[in-house]
Amino acid sequence: MPTTLIDRIDALLPQTQCTKCGYDGCRPYAAAIANDAEAINRCPPGGTAGIQALALLLNQAVLAPDASCGLQQPLTVAVIDELHCIGCTLCIQACPVDAIVGANKLMHTVIPDRCTGCDLCIAPCPTDCISMEPAHREWTSEDAINGRLHYEQRQHRLQEHHDEPSAAVARNLANKPAVSTAASDDATTRQQVIADALARARARRKQL
Ligand code: SF4
Ligand code: SF4
Ligand code: SF4
Repeated sequence: MPTTLIDRIDALLPQTQCTKCGYDGCRPYAAAIANDAEAINRCPPGGTAGIQALALLLNQAVLAPDASCGLQQPLTVAVIDELHCIGCTLCIQACPVDAIVGANKLMHTVIPDRCTGCDLCIAPCPTDCISMEPAHREWTSEDAINGRLHYEQRQHRLQEHHDEPSAAVARNLANKPAVSTAASDDATTRQQVIADALARARARRKQL
């Protein structure tokens, strides 16, 4: 049962942990609403219904969704093209709910039932082998419960192994410069980076 105001706000958030609100997950956003009077219209997955629920809880006016955070979209699920996965583990490090399994230099795959559709794994992938596909279903309250649980389990695990106050953010940010450097190069360089990575992956597979 929710006990604090943060708990009660968090209970109304979708728990996809997508960070589109500008915070490192749903609970940090809930804390910002409770403690720093953050606006209640920054959660695209929650949509208008979510804003209305927060407005009712907090006795505030209903606001229009803040479009700068993105638009509410149908639920999607990540799919990895395993033939092109080079096993770099960057997607695992980015996933807030441990929905990707794999190991260094081995093919990775997504556990669909765990995937929240947050798309945080897309940007770090150096071979662009992850796509977001329609989930053909709605996000349920049970999904939200599981999303919160998987996020909390991951946060606890990261904090056991890292001293940073927000290890997930630190690790994600640390990953992004190398990836965006490759991504922002001209098309020829980017294609070469990907071609080299794929050649290494194919060579490794031939040795298996
Ligand atoms: S679902 Fe995404 S945008 Fe909404 S509160 Fe959670 S992390 Fe923020
Ligand atoms: S697999 Fe990708 S889209 Fe799915 S929850 Fe993890 S990071 Fe988000
Ligand atoms: S980021 Fe892409 S290439 Fe790297 S392990 Fe994940 S799916 Fe494979």
